Amino acid sequence: MRALRHLIAAILVASILVPLSGLAADQKAEKLKPYTLKICIISGDKLGEMGDPFVYKYKDREIKFCCKGCLKDFNKEPDKYIKKIEEAEAKAKKAKS
Ligand SMILES: [Zn+2]
Repeated sequence: MRALRHLIAAILVASILVPLSGLAADQKAEKLKPYTLKICIISGDKLGEMGDPFVYKYKDREIKFCCKGCLKDFNKEPDKYIKKIEEAEAKAKKAKS
């Protein structure tokens, strides 16, 4: 009986752990585009001024907001803000070179 119980426990643990480790591997392989701007694209406020920025994953990129409230605005028109981020990033690159 005891051996059976161990076997069941082992199967349970394996069924829980295997999908989890698979998921972790997927997340590592997936490359997120980093958010390089120093400001919140929604409010225009400097990131980190009001505490830690709120990090959000949208499709293949990482986005940082000054606060969680800005996520609501982002979700209303994500495409518009993605465009804004890309424009701001392009500008920042030009300024550097
Ligand atoms: Zn905000």
